[in-house]
Amino acid sequence: MSAVKEHGNIFVISSPSGGGKSSLISRVLKKVPGLTLATSHTSRPPRAGEKDGVEYRFVTRKEFLAMRREGEFVEWVSLHGHLYGTSRRELDRLTAQGKDILLDIDIRGAVSVASIYPRAVSVFILPPSLAVLEERLRKRGSESEEQIRTRLTTAVREMRAATRYRYCIVNRTLSRAVAELEAVITAERLHLSPGAARALLRKILS
Ligand code: 5GP
Repeated sequence: MSAVKEHGNIFVISSPSGGGKSSLISRVLKKVPGLTLATSHTSRPPRAGEKDGVEYRFVTRKEFLAMRREGEFVEWVSLHGHLYGTSRRELDRLTAQGKDILLDIDIRGAVSVASIYPRAVSVFILPPSLAVLEERLRKRGSESEEQIRTRLTTAVREMRAATRYRYCIVNRTLSRAVAELEAVITAERLHLSPGAARALLRKILS
């Protein structure tokens, strides 16, 4: 992270489900120092291999609704019959540590975050084609035929929102997408506000 920035960066990453975002994010988190994932809360049951506190904080619908009533979410959405939310406490905790934060949220969540944190950097991950997206969803094997159809219809609608994001990465191969997301993070870390530029100059010239 640039030592002269007043705040850490917030990266908002969205993609239709099956876009390959999870593998991309976990690779980038391992490779890029000073970057951390803000773990969302969800009422969705864990998929095979998912651990509480890693991919998500898994809570019951009742717990989620209680948290929502208490205003504990910066934003929340209902998606594919489940609830997902970004915890205010989690964001405050990570911001206090001065880390760059990565949020893996859907397009509605991205709009809410952009209005609360205008400096957030949005990145959309696109599949190379619809056929590849469908294949990835089927390989995952965690959804029924009906759920796959719903996710595909939602995916097409969501992909149209890509035009509103600052960056788009087409996930053709994982290694290339990882390199491109790293490049975005590096570019944003080097991007200085006028205030930060003055602070940097003061430091260099003193
Ligand atoms: P999945 O069930 O496949 O893990 O996630 C479905 C979608 O929910 C993904 O597009 C993911 O980005 C989105 N999502 C996960 N957590 C949150 C959240 O806290 N807020 C919003 N708005 N979307 C989320």
